[in-house]
Amino acid sequence: MKRIYTLLLTLLVITLATASSCAQIGSKPEINIPKEPVDKPIIGVSASSNTSASAPLTYIKAIKRAGGVPLVIPMTTCEEQISAVLAVVDAIVMTGGEDVCPLYYGEEPLRAQGEIVPERDEFDYKLIRMAIDKDLPLLGICRGEQVLNVAFGGTLYQDIPSQKKDSFIKHSQKAPREYGTHSITIEKGSLLEQLLGTNKTNVNSFHHQAVKDVAPGFKATAFAADGVIEAIEMVGNNKVLGVQFHPEGPTSVGDDEFLGIFTHFIELAKKR
Ligand code: MN
Repeated sequence: MKRIYTLLLTLLVITLATASSCAQIGSKPEINIPKEPVDKPIIGVSASSNTSASAPLTYIKAIKRAGGVPLVIPMTTCEEQISAVLAVVDAIVMTGGEDVCPLYYGEEPLRAQGEIVPERDEFDYKLIRMAIDKDLPLLGICRGEQVLNVAFGGTLYQDIPSQKKDSFIKHSQKAPREYGTHSITIEKGSLLEQLLGTNKTNVNSFHHQAVKDVAPGFKATAFAADGVIEAIEMVGNNKVLGVQFHPEGPTSVGDDEFLGIFTHFIELAKKR
């Protein structure tokens, strides 16, 4: 019994010690206002909720680690709102999320279709087209990559397991976000190869949809072993990249393997 008390007391001491950075009663944090102009680009992050102006912290942390200042863009279908935001940000990251409405690429919804958020489809579509029209760097992640493809005339598999019969890989992993669970092969000479410094790596996977027909003006530059497209790039424009995996997962917890994707966009954003 005494041992248990000693253990609990030790845990309490450790907890108090780690919480020591908390403000003391009556004190306020010191503010160190930067004396020099801050050279950090503002990276717009598309909100992934229509009930709050929020995006998962993994995106936020990955952008901060790469030297950018993340700014979540609340969902809106108003072009004036989007235009005003695009005047402030230096690059865009499109986040993951629900399925894309198949009517956008000329198909009826199959029964295996997942959740659809019409407002988000319209927001993402307008944000992507207006940002690229302004020549802003744009990184599409998972759903972000899929909407990017659809926005420029491509199509999607609405549901890989029921539609792509030769797909044998589990693309909806049951492992934590920071772990890669299936391999990808990256095209030689592609932007993604340049950013990751390799032709083969393992990525995480949280999708049942994927790019089917690549949009005109884009090319597929990474594939899973079952042929599922894992990255698309705009031909002749290194400012537009879409990845089916979630590089922000490992990047947000301090892993450097995919950090190059984010630093590339931060560097492009700095030049603006
Ligand atoms: Mn996958």
